[in-house]
Amino acid sequence: AESTIDPSLRHVYREVLRRNAGEHEFHQAVEEVLGSLGPVVKRHPHYLDERVIERLCEPERQIIFRVPWTDDAGQVQINRGFRVEYSSVLGPYKGGLRFHPSVLLGTVKFLGFEQIFKNALTGMPIGGGKGGSDFDPKGRSDTEVMRFCQSFMTELYRHLGEYTDVPAGDIGVGGREIGYLFGQYKRITNRYEAGVLTGKGLAWGGSRARTEATGYGTVYFADEMARHAGRSLEGKRVVVSGSGNVAIYAVEKVTELGGTVVACSDSSGYVVDEDGIDLDLLKDLKEVRRERVGAYAEERGGRARLVQDGSVWDVPCEVALPCATQNELDDEAARTLVRNGTWLVAEGANMPSTPAAVRVFQEAGVLFGPGKAANAGGVATSALEMQQNASRDSWTFEHTDARLGEIMRNIHQRVVTTAEDYDRPGDYVFGANAAGFTSVADAMLAMGV
Ligand code: GLU
Repeated sequence: AESTIDPSLRHVYREVLRRNAGEHEFHQAVEEVLGSLGPVVKRHPHYLDERVIERLCEPERQIIFRVPWTDDAGQVQINRGFRVEYSSVLGPYKGGLRFHPSVLLGTVKFLGFEQIFKNALTGMPIGGGKGGSDFDPKGRSDTEVMRFCQSFMTELYRHLGEYTDVPAGDIGVGGREIGYLFGQYKRITNRYEAGVLTGKGLAWGGSRARTEATGYGTVYFADEMARHAGRSLEGKRVVVSGSGNVAIYAVEKVTELGGTVVACSDSSGYVVDEDGIDLDLLKDLKEVRRERVGAYAEERGGRARLVQDGSVWDVPCEVALPCATQNELDDEAARTLVRNGTWLVAEGANMPSTPAAVRVFQEAGVLFGPGKAANAGGVATSALEMQQNASRDSWTFEHTDARLGEIMRNIHQRVVTTAEDYDRPGDYVFGANAAGFTSVADAMLAMGV
């Protein structure tokens, strides 16, 4: 793995491996960023002298806590809670909470590390952080989720604050969970501190367009990539993996722009609908009834089919939007996509493509938009929510969505310009890493050791 990293930075990576033994996803995220920084430190040797990268590889603070709660049967359950407060040089720690049985400290660290650079790219005043738990909301009743969220916040609240650390949702954490978390924070602190969490309901301090923002933002970014290459998404066949919040609104925006999304997925399989995914049905199934995608195929009768083996990436498409989870798209899937004529990939999830898959895309000349640029619309709109909370204001959908579009276009511009500036035209991975890193590094240096 080390071979992708410039020799001047390999000692940094080795130290990360030593200090964070066994945390493979974290290693992968660090390797991916360090893999871009060789030319950057060559041009700015003071980043090396001041040990900026070493500093960035070590989170400012890592919180691990016990989350005890009682299930509906009266049985005591124990989960583990995390908050990694990674970097606060650009603003309060900002990033989501993930509730999923696979969550380990290394998962949260990889996500927090990505978040630093993503948040920097948005140009908004937000630092990087991430949190979560190995709690599995699937199959739990509303009251169980509520009791879990209350217990989680009973520990976490002391570490949060609108100027300190501002969580939001991620996998397994949506509007329902944010509501329970906010209620508990308010109860304990006796403060209506709206800016302490984002992704709130519209009636109590939430922002319009926040629910849609990650999916919409990914498609705005993909659209910008296509335009830059003299193409467009109109009339294109698109595959979106996942069927959660990011995927749903990616499907919606692709459809609005005249593309056809022919497949989406969840952990139970994928559905192919050649007429284009029926959005109302998907939303109802996923957001209201909390069903698997199999139910989609059933309700569409003969018009859609459920496939339970293989991969959603077997479905031929011109544009692929991985919106499920990390490492969902490997090199084999990437080769299949390339063979089937895919020319654009934009990541709605965090690190969904394995490093080998990214190499396949880049070698084949596929336009590849990495998550830290392409999915930054969610957190950017969270920053807009914080802005509305701070001014006790509430913007229209049109205004907020327009700001989101502008932010995504700015990120695209910055990534493209940075890549060109380093003589790596079209390399979105390099551009995103170099631009995000430079903002964070300069702020860090300005603030001293
Ligand atoms: N979980 C989202 C992300 O990965 C959003 C974070 C936020 O809004 O703070 O960027």
